Formats: sequence, C-alpha cells, structure tokens
Amino acid sequence: MSPQSRCKGKKIVQVAVFAPLRSTFDYVFDSDNDEDLDIKIGTRVRVSLRNSERIGIVVSFSRFDTSCRRKLKNILEVIDNKPIVSRKMLSLASWAASYYHHPLGEVISLMLPGKMRKGDRVPLSKSYIWHVSQAGRDALEARTVNGARQLELLQFLVSSPNNGSETFQSLTFAWQAPLRKLVEKGWATKSTSKARDSDPIIVKSKVILNPEQMNAKSIIERNLEKFRSIVLYGVTGSGKTEVYFEVMQTVISSGKQILFLLPEIALTKHLISRFRKRFGSQVALLHSARSNSERISAWQDCLSGKVSILLGTRSAVWFDLPNLGLIIVDEEHDSAYKQYDGFKYSARDIAIVRAKKNSIPIILGSATPSFETLANIKSGKYDVIKLLDRPRALVATSTKILDVRGSSLKSGLSNMLIERMRHHLDLGQQVVLFLNRRGYAPLLICRDCGDIRNCYRCDAYLVYYKSRKILSCHHCGYEISLAKISVCCEGQNMEPLGLGTESIEEEVKRQFPNKNVVRVDRDSVKSGDSFEIILNSIEEKKVDIVIGTQMISKGLDFENVTLVGVVDADSRLYSIDFRAEERLAQLLIQVTGRAGRGGKAGEMVLQTHRPDNPVLRRVIDGGYETYSNLALAERELAQLPPYVSMVIIRAESQQVSRPKSFLLGVKKLLEKDSDGKLKVTDPIPALMTQRAGRHRYLLVIRVMKKSDIHDCIGSTIPDIEDLARKIKLRWAIDVDPHDTL
Ligand code: ADP
Ligand code: ZN
Repeated sequence: MSPQSRCKGKKIVQVAVFAPLRSTFDYVFDSDNDEDLDIKIGTRVRVSLRNSERIGIVVSFSRFDTSCRRKLKNILEVIDNKPIVSRKMLSLASWAASYYHHPLGEVISLMLPGKMRKGDRVPLSKSYIWHVSQAGRDALEARTVNGARQLELLQFLVSSPNNGSETFQSLTFAWQAPLRKLVEKGWATKSTSKARDSDPIIVKSKVILNPEQMNAKSIIERNLEKFRSIVLYGVTGSGKTEVYFEVMQTVISSGKQILFLLPEIALTKHLISRFRKRFGSQVALLHSARSNSERISAWQDCLSGKVSILLGTRSAVWFDLPNLGLIIVDEEHDSAYKQYDGFKYSARDIAIVRAKKNSIPIILGSATPSFETLANIKSGKYDVIKLLDRPRALVATSTKILDVRGSSLKSGLSNMLIERMRHHLDLGQQVVLFLNRRGYAPLLICRDCGDIRNCYRCDAYLVYYKSRKILSCHHCGYEISLAKISVCCEGQNMEPLGLGTESIEEEVKRQFPNKNVVRVDRDSVKSGDSFEIILNSIEEKKVDIVIGTQMISKGLDFENVTLVGVVDADSRLYSIDFRAEERLAQLLIQVTGRAGRGGKAGEMVLQTHRPDNPVLRRVIDGGYETYSNLALAERELAQLPPYVSMVIIRAESQQVSRPKSFLLGVKKLLEKDSDGKLKVTDPIPALMTQRAGRHRYLLVIRVMKKSDIHDCIGSTIPDIEDLARKIKLRWAIDVDPHDTL
C-alpha cells in the first residue's frame, strides 16, 4: 500500500478547546475506522490535552501529510453528527478572539448553552402544548387560584392560543414549576403537539406612526438589504419602540429573524409585555436568570427558526439565528453591554460586527447615545435619525438644581426636598429618591481618636450597616460584626459618617411615618424575583416612596412617579475616570425620564454643593446634545477615546513588587515592536491599590489607529504570557475599557 492510500481517511483537525488557552491544538481524525463517520467544521469533539479530557470545537482542517513528524493524538470522540456552530458564528468568534485578545475556545463556548459546553448531546426537541382545562377556567372564575405565578400562567394560557414551550420563553419568571402544578391540579392539560401552525399570530398595532416615525421606518426599511449602522436618537417616550416594532414586522414578514438586545431584563418588564402582546410566541427571551433547559430550548428554537425574535441581554449576542435580518440594540449607551469580568467584550460592538458580517442593518437606539456612537455619526460612519416629538404629549419634566450649601440637612435631605416630597405625596403621587451608595454610612469613625475602620484586605473603608450591626467591605465581601471590632481607644466612640440608602430610608420613614417606603439596592434585592415583586408593588401603588441606587435609574417606567430627587449629585462629579462625566450626564437625562410619564407634570430635584459645576449646568441648561458636543471636543483635544483607541493591561499579585516589574517588562515588549504607534504609560497603581489582599497596577496604552491594536499588541501577547508565567502573577487585557481606575 502506498503511503498516500494508507492515510486516505486521515485529516489533521484544529480544535479550539473550551479552556483559557490562546492557541488551537492539532489532532488526527481517521475516518477509515468508520465509513459513515465524517467530521465537519463546527462540530464538538472530545480530546485529550495535558493528561485530561477536554471538549472543543473543530475550527479547521488540513490534509494529513505523512512527512509530518509531529506525534499527534487522535480525536477521542466526535460528539455531534452535524455542525452546531455555523461558519458565520465561527468567523464572528475568531474576530472577537483576535480583537479582544481572548482565547478562541472560550469565545466559542459562549455560543452554546452551558451543559453543551461540557459535552452533553443536543437534546431532541420534544414539543408539547398546554391548554387550560374547564376545571382551570372554573378555578379562574371562582378566584380559587392561589399563587401569583400560577394565576399569571393560567391567564396567559387563556389569552394565548399557541401554547408550545417556546410561547413561555417570553415569560420573565421560571414557569416550569408552576406549570407542572397547574397540570397536577388538573387546571391545565399537556399533550404532544402536531406540527405547529406555521402562520405566526400577528397583532396589528393600534398606534398610527406620526410623520417623524414614518420617516424613520422608511429610512430603515430602505436599508434592510445591506450593512448599515443606524442610530435612532430620541428622547424617552419619543416612540422608538413603536418604530422598532413596525420595522420588525416587516422583517418577520419577509421570513427573517431579529436579534433584539436590551441592557437589563428585570427593569424592562413593560417592554417585554409589549413584545409579548405584539409578537406572541415568536419571541424567545434570554437572560442570565434562565435555567439551563430554558437556554437550551431557546437556543434550539433560534436555530430551527421556530422563533423569529431573540430578545435578550448581553450574552444573547452570541446566539446563532441562521436567518438573521436585523439587529436592534436598545439603550446602546448602557454600560451593561460591556462585560467587566473575564472576557471583557462589548455586546454592542460585537453586534455591530455581526451585522457587518451578515450584511444586514443594525439599529442603535438611545436618548443619550454613547460618545463612541456620536463620534461615528459625526464622521459619517453611522446614519442618524432623530425623534424629537413625544407622541403622547408627555409633560416636560422641570429640573431644579438645589443649592444645599449652608443649609441644614436631615440625613442628607434638605427641607426644600422634603417639602417637594410632601407636595407630590399629598397629590397621591409617588416619589423616587436616588442615591448611588448602599449601606447605612460609607464609614464609621471614632469621635475620640479619629480611627476609621478599613478593610484589612483592600484599600477601602468598611461600610456600616446599622440594621445588621456589621461592617462590610463592598470590594471583597469581608464582614465583621460590630461586637467583634477591635478597640481603637479608651472612648471607642464610633459614629457613622456620610450617607447610604439605609440612612436615607431611616430618615424618610421618620419624616413620613404613614407612607410606605421601599429600598431598592443590591442589599435589599438579592434575586430577580424579589426585584420583580418590588417593581410590581410600585406599579400597583402599594409603595409611596422608592429609595434606590442606580438599579432604579433606567427603564423604571411608572406613570404615577412624578418626583425624582437626586440626593447627592456631587459624588459622581469628582471621579478621575474620564468617562465619569459622560455617565453622569446620561444618568441625569435618564433619571429625568422617570418622572412625568403619565401625563402628570414631572419634577426633578438635584441636591448639590456645587450648583455652578459646568457639567451639571451644561446638561441641565443645554440638554444632552449641547453637553455632548462640548465634551466630545474636549476628548478630541485631550486625545482620549473615542478619538484614540485605548487598551489597559492590569496585573495583580500578593507580592507588592511583582505587578510593577511585570508591567515595566510589558511596556518594554510593547515598545520594542511598535514603531511609536503605541503610547504606553508607566505602570500606574490602581485607584484601589490593594484589593482582596492583592496589589494592583495597570498600564494604559493609547493607539491612534484601531488596526494597530491588533498588529502591535497581538504579536506581543505570547511574550507577555511568558513573562507572567516567569514572574508568577495574574494579568488581564481590556480592549476599549469602560473604566480606567
Ligand atoms: P420610546 O421607546 O422612545 O421610549 P415608546 O415607543 O415606548 O417610546 O412610546 C412612548 C409611548 O407613546 C408609548 O406608550 C407608545 O405606545 C406611545 N406612542 C408611540 N408612538 C405613538 C404614536 N404614533 N401615536 C400614539 N402613541 C404613540
Ligand atoms: Zn475588602
């Protein structure tokens, strides 16, 4: 036998393993052993790597060559008989891996539901349908359904004619358990479905678009066959969502699918119920609280074309829709699109690249577009459509900057703010107070000796929680009970200093003893469910006053909220992060959007010690557009993003000297090959230099031309990795960082 024929069925297969390893690995696949078996790009395989078994995806082949002297291992198992990641998605993954300098296998793994990353078989999709039984209808009538979920599900089944499991994808809560209960009680029946109606239910909208919206719709629809980034720039309530819906209807009618990204699920319940009403079972909902089996069935429904719309948060950008015709990113400026841990990608930017690769348009919607997007509009890269009217004639919100210098504050609240609260509450309306600091007080100080309690592992003060009688570190989770803290002096005369949502809550309850108060922050809201319950109670007007952190700043859309008080507008003005100002401006505009939604006059009150602060004045007096024009010009002068690209390399170690010497080495490596295309700072201590016992430094790299990031940094990564191994420390790279501290 000639060597040629001996290895006829052999291929060398490149596998991206689901592990944090930057290279792909070569294996041999021999189909001679099994005539039926072939291996395709995009299928999962089981391989052996460094003495352990791993799952990975086949990303390419090359011909087996007998002259190849390397001893390659065999593929242990081919898991899928057909590709489960498409070529298009693989190409997106490989773009992202190279742009963000992140291991390819880890990027691809995001495209699969959790269990399938571990090698589980693709489950057969069984279709069931559910119906309400007569007993169920009777129970509804007799109001004997207890349990809010069961009631909601039962009503849902009554209202929705097409009850396959994909229908339930649009529900925001875990529906499996209550649905099982309904079947157990005989209120609902479950049966296997026949082929599903192929005609989707389409509910015609009652809204007639105004001329501005019509114009937006027709501009977008003229661009459906090609890549285009189109910014829908319109204040809250200007009717963006109605425009999305109309365009989506057109896209679905042509048999195509839509990816709709939104920053957050819990706060967008209204939007989701609008989706459900309009598009029914054509929508799959995907977010981090979904269970594994829900993710798998959403993933399958997207692949099979059973659903036309995938509505989801950041991670939904990785789900394949084989027939994708349009991407929409709502609230595109929101920093929730950026992942801060691990793989530091921006879902908005991935979405734009995905649209480009698919030659389809992408709509970026916002009342306060990010500076990146504004710069792209100015340079002509993106189109912009402005919506200036508010169709439902919402009453404009008046904004007052309240100078609190010298005035006596009651736990941070001025008499003027308390008086305005009373006024709105007396009218039977609701009030939101906003403070971006949770806990009772940001620190506890001894009045006798001045001692302040620090976290022993972080460069941070411990936050005081009065109700739980503890001190807690917000950076590493360390907690200590007050009874156990060490003695600082003879007096040990500890007092809280500064404001937190807990102390505001205490004061508000003192001022308004007969009103219902709820606090919304990461301490009071531990789960999506409890958040939803709180939001419902606000909507049902069981609550008069809401006190919250930024959790409530966006999408909180309640008709009866007419006053928004920003307790401390100053705390955000003095951050050294160059994006802090932009975020403050966006926040102020978004918070303003919270009031006056229901046709009642809205009012916003900003308490500040710096009433003449230029950022505050520009935003309040001139609006977002005026502010952003000026601020963008400043960014350009200062050579900051979006006018240059930025990359940050962070390093941390328990050994004080290591991060700095590592980063000095990295700087040298980068500058060696860069021909001056990169501007690299010296190692800078992070704002919180010590965190969870680790010392942290960073290197800020500025790049004039985006393509140079890849050329100059990409080639250096292996050397940087070597250096990190030698010095023994953790490091990470962040391309287009959102915070630089
Ligand atoms: P946005 O998404 O910009 O915040 P929405 O699309 O949610 O705005 O519209 C705000 C409100 O105005 C919604 O209640 C919506 O139903 C209503 N609306 C939007 N467009 C129209 C229109 N052309 N005619 C009547 N009502 C409209
Ligand atoms: Zn700590």
